Order: sequence, then C-alpha cells, then structure tokens
Amino acid sequence: MNLVVANWKMHKTRSEVEAFVRDFASRAERIENVEIAIAPAFPFLGAAGDARGRWSVAAQDCGAERAGAFTGEVSAEMIASEGARYVILGHSERRRLFRENVETLSRKLARAREAGLIPIFCVGESEEEKSAGRTAAVLDEQIRSLDGDAPEAELVLAYEPVWAIGTGRNANPEEICGGARHIVERLSNRPLLRVLYGGSVTPDNADELIAQRAIAGFLVGGASLSPESFEKICRSAASAAA
Ligand code: PEP
Repeated sequence: MNLVVANWKMHKTRSEVEAFVRDFASRAERIENVEIAIAPAFPFLGAAGDARGRWSVAAQDCGAERAGAFTGEVSAEMIASEGARYVILGHSERRRLFRENVETLSRKLARAREAGLIPIFCVGESEEEKSAGRTAAVLDEQIRSLDGDAPEAELVLAYEPVWAIGTGRNANPEEICGGARHIVERLSNRPLLRVLYGGSVTPDNADELIAQRAIAGFLVGGASLSPESFEKICRSAASAAA
C-alpha cells in the first residue's frame, strides 16, 4: 500500500490544526487503499492524530540525545509518548539551515529506533550537485547515516531533490526513477524499505508521478496544508495502488 505523508513544516496553529483534522476526517472516511500520515509541529502531535486510526502522526525531527540538559530539544521518546508512529529525519531544510550531518542523523536514527518510531529518512541532491553529475554520490553519502541501522527494521526513504522542494518544479519521472532505483539498489539488503518521492507534488501532477513504479508514495509539503488538495493527492496514491 502506498504511503502519503503531509509535512506541515512550521505552519498551522492549534486552531488551524483542529480545523484541518475536522475537515479531513470526513474526507479520509472515503479514501481507501493508501496509508496516510500527518507531520505537524511538535506541540500538535496529539491534536493532529485521529482517534479512529484513519491516519497516523509523524514528527518532523527528533533530538539526537535520549534526555537531559538540552534546552529546546524534543526526544524521540517524548514523540512516541504522544502517539506518533513516524519521524521525519534529514529533511533538506534541517540539513541546510540547521547543519545536520551524517553523524548527527545516525544518532537521531538510533534514538528513533529506541523509541519504536519508524524513520522517514530524507535524501536528495542540490541543483549544483545534479548539474555536476554527483546525484548518486550525494545519495550514497547521505545514506551512510543508515550504516548502523538494523537492516530488517522498517524504513521509509524519501527521495527529495532539493531543487524540487517548494519550488513548483517537480522532478520528472525519469529523474524520480533514477534516484529511487539507486536508493533501492544501495539498500537492497532491506526487505522493509519503501521509497517515497517529495518535491512540489500537487493534485495536478500526483497521478503522473505515482505511476512510476519505483516509488511507493509521496512526502508532500505545501500541497498538504489544505485538506482538499491533500485529499486529492492521497486519492492519486490510492488509485495507483489498487
Ligand atoms: C517537503 O517539504 O518535504 C516538500 C516536498 O515540500 P513541497 O511539497 O512543498 O515541495
């Protein structure tokens, strides 16, 4: 079954989260054959959940340490205690703006595993790296964070070319397949691997993109903020899986 994850980034206050949940609950009722997860900001992990289990909740990050004097950090254990199932790690905004590197991310992965969270691990090349023909090398380097992770554990990899995130310029099917296939080959020892695509997915391009058999769903930023457009993307992913 395909998986569609809404990454809300630093958007939505409590009342906006509650309004989305109310609206999306009736829409989700009519969507079958697709797994859905929503990643709100930390304070709303509980409020973004669905008591009836029609979707699950993901955090957008977690701390690299277990607990202690780390002001402002949120641990994987805290996230799990709010009922989250997934945690997004290594989003390009975290790598670029908060200087997260291979070592930090391997520690975050370990904390996520200890807490029983399934990582949605993001990888992707920049425009410059792509132009230099370095996409495969960049993905390999980023995937190094997974070296210490148990290969039999469930893992979601999100292939998100940096140049496609929030730009309105989605990768074309060939580029998506190239990146996704490289990841699958590199992680061929992982039976429970799902590869998602992320980068300017919208209701208008979701059908064409999900038709690529190399991917098992989407990580969606901007287009996940409205219940209506998120529903349409979930439906595209559902019909491709049927
Ligand atoms: C993202 O934030 O992971 C993302 C893919 O954003 P957008 O869909 O807005 O490009």
